[in-house]
Amino acid sequence: MKIEHIILGGGIAGMGKAVSLSLAGKSFVLLEKEERLGGLIQTLPTQSGNFELGPNSVFKSPELSQIIAHLGLEEETITSSPASKSRFIFHRGKVRPLKISPTGFMGNKILSPAEKWRAFREISVKTKSTENETLHQFFTRRFGQGFADKILDPGIRGIYAQDPEHILTQLAFPELLEMESKYGSIIKALKKQPPQKREILNFKGGMVQMTKAFQKKHEGSIRLETKVLSILSTESGFKIEFLEKGKRTEILAENVSVCLSATALKEIQTNFGLENIPRLPYTAMQVLILKIPKTKSSKLPMGFGFLCGKMANRPYLGLLQNSVIFPENFNQDSTLATVYGFLGKDRENIKLALEEDLNLRGMTEMIHHHEIPQALPSYNHSNQEVNAALDALEHKISGIKFYGNYRKGISVPKILKSVF
Ligand SMILES: Cc1cc2nc3c(=O)[nH]c(=O)nc-3n(C[C@H](O)[C@H](O)[C@H](O)COP(=O)(O)OP(=O)(O)OC[C@H]3O[C@@H](n4cnc5c(N)ncnc54)[C@H](O)[C@@H]3O)c2cc1C
Repeated sequence: MKIEHIILGGGIAGMGKAVSLSLAGKSFVLLEKEERLGGLIQTLPTQSGNFELGPNSVFKSPELSQIIAHLGLEEETITSSPASKSRFIFHRGKVRPLKISPTGFMGNKILSPAEKWRAFREISVKTKSTENETLHQFFTRRFGQGFADKILDPGIRGIYAQDPEHILTQLAFPELLEMESKYGSIIKALKKQPPQKREILNFKGGMVQMTKAFQKKHEGSIRLETKVLSILSTESGFKIEFLEKGKRTEILAENVSVCLSATALKEIQTNFGLENIPRLPYTAMQVLILKIPKTKSSKLPMGFGFLCGKMANRPYLGLLQNSVIFPENFNQDSTLATVYGFLGKDRENIKLALEEDLNLRGMTEMIHHHEIPQALPSYNHSNQEVNAALDALEHKISGIKFYGNYRKGISVPKILKSVF
């Protein structure tokens, strides 16, 4: 029997694709190699609360709302607290408030007065982006070096875990180029946009609640512990070979949505050269879950958290205050936080550096430590090559599509937009 759609990989890309097919009245079968769905989405339940080892929260988007409604999770969502609106950057040895609103911007202590004026002059910058301009180059050209080094750099490292000097604007943020080309200025473009209230969401049971609800609703269409080995393009569709709980099996399908990482793709055997796509480097990260006492000496201001740029020279990328962002999901006797760092930095050193930065020497407790050897894909020239090769395959072989966080952006909303 030939099935209509087969989805390979059960991360957010695979699950999102499944929901979009389901909403269009189409059937699917989803194959996932692990014994659980979610991929990078992983929630750690502890006595202090539900911690996220992958995405901590997601911006509400039309596609996410459709998934939430489809899974009947409307009453289970939680939104970030008003207190978490305050954001910070670690700059010159201190956690300092970051004010990016038009009214608050001039009060920033992170940029010098000259750097602030230069940023405002973005409105009159006439130059246009050149091909292959990096994010750092784009922001330096439009907003000045100070803005690019002190605000963009920590912000981008905190999301992509990569240097903005190595991220191509056209790949990671094509919307910036559209704004520049349409309005001649990012500030002008932002002014033209209707005011956006971007809600930040999670679930009462953590992100895993979405995964579990998906699994429950589509149980009959999901095959776990099923590792895809090969995809063969045939005259009338595709033959997928896989190892299901140790047993080698195959399925015939009309359409294939490949929702695997770019690394996993290269391990799949095909008769159309998928294994020959260039290798895409990923960053390796670690996640530390910390309990931080609420003492008067603490220099951790209440808010979403803080980020460290290259200039700060810290062994970690930033800290999120989970118990401030989603207070209903955590005990409130201490601050519960997630700290992100590159894999390879000693975790005890990260903890010590953080304690020193926050004036909390010997006072924090590490509740958990998690390593992600393949966390986030590069958005550089290799990404460009990989995506060009996959676009060409999609064009050549009708019925196959490739999705995931290396295609159109790493965030959950961007991935969902691409699969819907
Ligand atoms: C630490 C961290 C924090 C983040 N925080 C946020 C955040 O707060 N907000 C946000 O929007 N984004 C965040 N992101 C980004 C976002 O979580 C990821 O980009 C997204 O979850 C990736 O989803 P995916 O489906 O593309 O890939 P994955 O989640 O990697 O899913 C791929 C799936 O394919 C399966 N697979 C692999 N090989 C095979 C095979 N041969 N056969 C079958 N199955 C296979 C894997 O087991 C996996 O389940 C974060 C990422 C990290 C690492």
